[in-house]
Amino acid sequence: MTTVILKPHKEESLKRFHPWVFSGAIAKVVLDASHKSAAPEEGEMVCVRSSANEALGVGHWQVGSIAVRILDFAAEELPRNFWHERIRAAYKVREAIGLIRPDNNTYRLVHGEGDFLPGLIVDVYADTAVVQAHSVGMHVSRNEIAKALMEAVPQIQNVYYKSDDTLPFKAQIEGEKTGWLIKNQESKIKDLDEFWSMENGLSFRIDWLRGQKTGFFVDQRENRALVERYAKGKDVLNMFCYTGGFSLYALRGGAQTVDSVDVSQKAIDLVTINVARNFPKATNHQAVVADAFEYLSAQKAAGKTYDLIILDPPAFAKHRDAVKNALRGYQRINAKAIEMIRPGGILFTFSCSQAVDKEAFRLAVFSAAASIGRNVRILHQLHQPQDHPINIYHPEGEYLKGLVLYVE
Ligand code: SAH
Repeated sequence: MTTVILKPHKEESLKRFHPWVFSGAIAKVVLDASHKSAAPEEGEMVCVRSSANEALGVGHWQVGSIAVRILDFAAEELPRNFWHERIRAAYKVREAIGLIRPDNNTYRLVHGEGDFLPGLIVDVYADTAVVQAHSVGMHVSRNEIAKALMEAVPQIQNVYYKSDDTLPFKAQIEGEKTGWLIKNQESKIKDLDEFWSMENGLSFRIDWLRGQKTGFFVDQRENRALVERYAKGKDVLNMFCYTGGFSLYALRGGAQTVDSVDVSQKAIDLVTINVARNFPKATNHQAVVADAFEYLSAQKAAGKTYDLIILDPPAFAKHRDAVKNALRGYQRINAKAIEMIRPGGILFTFSCSQAVDKEAFRLAVFSAAASIGRNVRILHQLHQPQDHPINIYHPEGEYLKGLVLYVE
């Protein structure tokens, strides 16, 4: 196996189980005999050693500032049952926290570094796992991962692979980036237009082919349940609704009316289908295709107000350099929403930008509230759910944050 030797003292973070080796920490790379090239192949398994030749772990080689993502700290090569054991351990967590139930078969099974599998995401919808590779190493291992998923998780019958948008775009990739890895003829899947998955007793049409990410935002489950608690008798606006997760919980919670807004027609079509399936008699739901800023301005001009607003925008900052603009965006959209809340109303506001930390986000919302001049109390500080765990050695895994505000 190819060996990566670190500069003196650069082993410290690995000894504290942080799973990334930065390229600047590397003294030299000793290629194994099979290489014709001058550098490791992207995605190749390598062994990392300290300057004193102590074995520190094995992981996937990657081109870029993160050069290795460690999979196993204890081994000099990957143990034979590695994929099965890691996936089984992740499954046991979901089982232990009560996520696998007849009325809930939608959950994240593998959350990258948070489940000690850097670069791998697996979401489960009913009998199907949707796998996303964020590194070439995980792409190279995709068939072994699919096999391990089938063996480790009794419910999984099919494995779909969707990595077109997540693999490093400059990498030379062999093989398909999207498609079935395993499709069981006996499975419920005949036609994706009729594929349903259940979250807390609510049914959602999941379309990973045409949908965003793996087809659904699994990370808002707990926060949606909180909306349900507060929705009774309220006029609700679910802004950036995507497939209508928050809207269904608000309807079940007894909202008076729910308006779901998203800029994507495809998203709005799915919201409409999901509402019809769960609440076939509902006449109090409206789905609108519109840009958030334009919608809020137009509604304000028309004198419209709401009791409860949910703002769950896409990541405004995808990179560190975009943080300043993102904060301005959060401030603007929150000010517009706070303005439209009736006295005594509630705002659920989120940021899923990893690069914006919770203090910065809270400051942006604070500035928004101050600019409108209303009395605002923080009722809840929300975060990502238990099936999106944060590896304690990898704090970078924290990304979703939210505030629930009472607006006087
Ligand atoms: N709240 C959703 C997830 C939101 S994802 C859930 O619980 O599932 C972000 C959504 O914002 C996407 O559906 C995207 O289409 C939408 N979006 C992006 N830009 C927008 C804009 N300017 N106005 C309205 N919606 C927008």
